[in-house]
Amino acid sequence: MSSISNRLSRIKSTLPPGVELVAVSKFHPVEALREAYDAGQRIFGESRVPELLEKIQAMPPDTCWHFIGHLQTNKLKHLVGNVALIESVDSLRLLEMIDDLSERRGVVTRVLMQLHVAAEQTKFGFLPDELVGWFTSRGFESLKATHICGLMGMATNTDDSERVASDFRLIAETRRRILAVAPDLRGFDTLSMGMSDDYPLAVEAGSTLVRVGTAIFGAREY
Ligand SMILES: *Cc1c(COP(=O)(O)O)cnc(C)c1O
Repeated sequence: MSSISNRLSRIKSTLPPGVELVAVSKFHPVEALREAYDAGQRIFGESRVPELLEKIQAMPPDTCWHFIGHLQTNKLKHLVGNVALIESVDSLRLLEMIDDLSERRGVVTRVLMQLHVAAEQTKFGFLPDELVGWFTSRGFESLKATHICGLMGMATNTDDSERVASDFRLIAETRRRILAVAPDLRGFDTLSMGMSDDYPLAVEAGSTLVRVGTAIFGAREY
């Protein structure tokens, strides 16, 4: 067994039923993805559009792609119809553009709304109150070809596990608040949270999708 498949099976054995694993393969070569694929992994996360497009060409057609990076609107045309989930919708303008393009192409795009709960200013996403407000005013009703499947978020980059856990609880709590103001939402089930260093805390807080890179593929060379 390769070390990638060893690490994959070790991580998967710690995930409770109902929690899916995204193998975050950004900056890693196709050979590494292929090893993970051969070990049974099907969901891969990428954060840059050109790299993703190259890997889509190189990998088997049943590979399932999640886009997890900040998305520039001029690159959107390459994603719609090509990925299973855009996890990183961080503005209403981006959401509207995804929806318009999806309608024109006759596809339904599945997305997560990205929340900003971390202390770092550099991270993208909606503030919890802002997003709850948007759902309260039922902004989602005007969507024609986009399914909002839930929320994605990152915790503060710190060794303070209490802070990390409370960031994750805030994301989970925001999902409950949204369901309280829009109880008719369907399929708003996904909570994408947790990375190599903090996914056990995320799972404890209710994550249904963990995005793990380094712990599977090793350190990235930028
Ligand atoms: C890179 C990245 C990850 C994976 O990070 P690791 O620490 O390598 O597990 C997860 N989520 C997002 C949004 C990322 O950009």
